[in-house]
Amino acid sequence: MNIHHLTALELGSLIKAKQLSAPEVARAFLDASAADNATLNAYTEILEESAMAAATAVQKRLDAGESLSPLAGVPMALKDNICSTEGTTTAASKMLGGYRSPFDAAAVEKLKAAGAVIIGKTNMDEFAMGSSTEKSYYGPTRNPWGKNRVPGGSSGGSAAAVAAGLAPYALGTDTGGSVRQPCGFCNLTGVKPTYGSVSRHGLISYASSLDQIGPMARDAADCAAILSILASLAVDTPHPPTDAPRPPLKIAMPTNHYDLPGLAPAVRAQVLKTADTLRSLGAEIVETTIPLLECTVPTYLIIACAEASSNMARYDGVKYGYRALETPTINDVFCKTRAEGFGAEAKRRILFGTFVLLSENYDTWYRKAVQTREMIKAAYDEALKACDLILTPVSPTPAYEIGANIEDPLEMYLGDIYTASANLAGLPAAAAPCGFDGDGMPIGMQLIGRPYSESLILDTLASYQEATDFHKKRPPSPDSMERGAAK
Ligand code: GLN
Repeated sequence: MNIHHLTALELGSLIKAKQLSAPEVARAFLDASAADNATLNAYTEILEESAMAAATAVQKRLDAGESLSPLAGVPMALKDNICSTEGTTTAASKMLGGYRSPFDAAAVEKLKAAGAVIIGKTNMDEFAMGSSTEKSYYGPTRNPWGKNRVPGGSSGGSAAAVAAGLAPYALGTDTGGSVRQPCGFCNLTGVKPTYGSVSRHGLISYASSLDQIGPMARDAADCAAILSILASLAVDTPHPPTDAPRPPLKIAMPTNHYDLPGLAPAVRAQVLKTADTLRSLGAEIVETTIPLLECTVPTYLIIACAEASSNMARYDGVKYGYRALETPTINDVFCKTRAEGFGAEAKRRILFGTFVLLSENYDTWYRKAVQTREMIKAAYDEALKACDLILTPVSPTPAYEIGANIEDPLEMYLGDIYTASANLAGLPAAAAPCGFDGDGMPIGMQLIGRPYSESLILDTLASYQEATDFHKKRPPSPDSMERGAAK
């Protein structure tokens, strides 16, 4: 058995059955993480000491017969914009270099109570602004499926860690696709929960009306287990009992989303095959149109940057974080600190967000975006009146090469076209593996549902994953894959 290949639930049940101990599992994942981080740069920090202490403590509770969650003793990785009292929380920004949070995020508190063992903080685009994890103060993360490829972003460190077997699951955050797109790029399953269902307390804000914390794991069953620990509100819809005849699930396929000129043929083909598989499992596939696709990215960017410009105002060199030296006046403190502390992408978004909120621009840009957001939400609500779920690609292309889009922010922003609408509309959405392209790079599909229908989305993905084995494929030959084979 190679423990680096197991799902979080499989590991949890082996720990519960005393076939493995929490400390030995933690040790194996810490060693693998330490060995592979030089290549992948998935972690900003590996938390060896606190992870071993947490694993020992969980093992004691289990030995004392305490009944903990099915994930008790299972290691996990935490995106570096989620506050934890262990290690630092930097959002991969120089601005927060060395910052130690005095408290745990609500999501972290819940995971710790459930017996989770945090083995490291993961790399990301600075302040979650990006799609490739190339915009981290700590340098880019590599995709275990192709080491010259990006892992996606902004939760690329979390995705790379799980895909390479350095952690069985991770938390990411999703403001416009940052859980789902890296899952698509790295052959993982991940969920952006209904807005408000998972607490954002202790998440470093990027765009508060869009941000959500979500699970990134190997399959739908793991995501459901993680989500049931994280969710503050009921993420459930009343299901018909399983022995009663279920009406066939209606899944909308918005054909205009499949006609996008930038959609890679391999992605289109695999997502269309997914529709066939879902049909063969009993779903009714309904071809439809969901309008305003072309408005998704501009609307998302205006709203996200406007909110970011306000959220980033707190980094002024006074309250916490980085402070520039040699600043004779208070104005110098603000200006020099922000000039030196933020990277280029954060500055670009702060400037753009400030621009759209200026009184002379507000009506033309920000107000219009807020109105368009309502129209996009209405279009999705309409589609979800007629159907239970919506099936789309996660992103127009599979993972691209590191550096390929770095000079062209617009090209990179267009990659959010399929994901950002779920954030704008507050809807739950999940990404899951559905095939590979000619270069062997993973392709992801997305299911979007009604508010609080996470269970339906994950049940549907679980039956899809029973019928397919894309999610079981591992990266071809990363060094870490052989580790643990003797177990
Ligand atoms: N890729 C998107 C962006 O660049 C989404 C980021 C996110 O979800 N945090 O803003």
